[in-house]
Amino acid sequence: MPVALVDCNSFYASCEQVFQPRLQGRAVVVLSNNDGCVVARSREAKALGIKMGEPWFQVRRRLQGQGQGQGQAEEVTALSSNYALYADMSNRVMRILGRFSPRQEVYSIDESFLELDGLPEPPEVIGQRIRSTVLRWTGLPVCVGIGPTKTLAKLANHLAKQDPAWAGVCDLAVLDAGEVKRLLAPVPVGEVWGGGQRLAHRLGALGILTALDLRRAPSKRIRQHASVMLGRNRLEPRGADRSDHQLHQPRRREAARPAGRGCGDHGRDPQPCLSP
Ligand SMILES: [Mg+2]
Repeated sequence: MPVALVDCNSFYASCEQVFQPRLQGRAVVVLSNNDGCVVARSREAKALGIKMGEPWFQVRRRLQGQGQGQGQAEEVTALSSNYALYADMSNRVMRILGRFSPRQEVYSIDESFLELDGLPEPPEVIGQRIRSTVLRWTGLPVCVGIGPTKTLAKLANHLAKQDPAWAGVCDLAVLDAGEVKRLLAPVPVGEVWGGGQRLAHRLGALGILTALDLRRAPSKRIRQHASVMLGRNRLEPRGADRSDHQLHQPRRREAARPAGRGCGDHGRDPQPCLSP
């Protein structure tokens, strides 16, 4: 049963670029309340080495020391966050994604799982259709990860973002077991599921440093030492553990809420995406 995780790329920064086209292709960061820390970075800002959560004054000071004159600091546009805009864009994206599958779980403001079984086209083809539709209707770039469980779909999404060779859609089902292992081996465990640094630290103490280590570790051990959530979201499909297959659909109502006019609404009425 293939599951897709669709995740918007650099969501807050991409929303800003949609409404300020002069920022397309430029380094953009979005700052937390009171303009304290970096909470989103465009691809170009990431390329300058700007980290998530870094205090903006530190970023500016560091970049001023690099390059000519004002250094690289003048290349970066820093914006205050606009959560009303991001919520509106999120609703639009989720509503579009809901057209691709009757089974959807909105996982965060910019991520949604979709069950892809029983659909008339191969998952990878649907993945590319999702990308082009969301881009055309909202201006936002997304990547699609596809796997047999939610965790593997999330990992596949991570791979799709890291390596342009995937063209934005990574379907683990097309790979053999050896290839999956090769791809899991270099992925830091903290990237796999939103456990953050603290969880990564606890797993690191158990010798679990990568996604591959996590996949190999006994489930019981992880549950004892890390968290129930991670125990459930192991990197393998398991018959006994349904939680990593099932989507939590009650949240669908959120996604289906009609979005208002304005932001990103190009006046087009979205058509069903699965029609032949
Ligand atoms: Mg994202």
